[in-house]
Amino acid sequence: MDRVDKMVGGQADVKLVSNAMANATRRKIMTMLLEGNRTMEEIAKSVPSMLDYHLQMLQQAGLIEIKDGLVVLTDFGKNFMETKTVKPAEVKTDLAGTRSLEVVELRQLLPCIADSTKFRIIARFEPALEGALKLLEPLFPRARYSERIGALIIQKGNILITIYSTGNVTMTMIRSEIEARETLDDLKRTINEAIVKGVTPVPREKIRVDHAEIYQYLPKTDCRICGEQSCYTFAIKLVGRETTLDKCTPLLEAKYTTNLEHIRALLEYL
Ligand code: SF4
Repeated sequence: MDRVDKMVGGQADVKLVSNAMANATRRKIMTMLLEGNRTMEEIAKSVPSMLDYHLQMLQQAGLIEIKDGLVVLTDFGKNFMETKTVKPAEVKTDLAGTRSLEVVELRQLLPCIADSTKFRIIARFEPALEGALKLLEPLFPRARYSERIGALIIQKGNILITIYSTGNVTMTMIRSEIEARETLDDLKRTINEAIVKGVTPVPREKIRVDHAEIYQYLPKTDCRICGEQSCYTFAIKLVGRETTLDKCTPLLEAKYTTNLEHIRALLEYL
């Protein structure tokens, strides 16, 4: 039996899923969501027409849901994408054949709830680095390649930059568009130099992520939905791996998009 059939449970559902995924725009939306939740406005930047229709098709197939203006993959949607996503063919052993990067998009500036003077950026490098991405980890003192999400996470001061193997880039805690452009140009320069001259490892710095830092980005409402007495206790347990981030469902609200993305990236350093 087909894996999709098993997960959804019936032939009619399989048809809904295959109809939903037969369209390139909807596949693009699903790939974006695999890299993180998005607001409708963010998706609309890449899908300027018939967005409601495409989202409805994906919703009917049970692949996505919309909560408080935030579009998220359902568990089924995540399973489906993990099954169907074509992973990078192979992790490369050197950068031979890798082409120089260009910044082709810088898409969104959303205020951050933890600090309203900071923004979240979505950008794109082309061509995608795919299997070469992991090789770039030694170029940055505070970088960590995550096999789980297929991304390189780089900490630069308070800024967290996540470069996905697909070429998408997200940055949190950015002060201005100028800082975003300078940060991207810096990254591009470092990576392109490595493509031409080879990777010269820099001394690595140990990154310590503690509960106080995680707490900064939690909603701080002490609502106890996560089952803990307070957000502070939740942060302690999160760092101690005694609980999981998905238990804090208030973080799924659109206004916390930046916070959620930032905490997710921080947790990759644990
Ligand atoms: S669910 Fe989230 S906001 Fe509520 S107490 Fe737990 S950590 Fe805090």
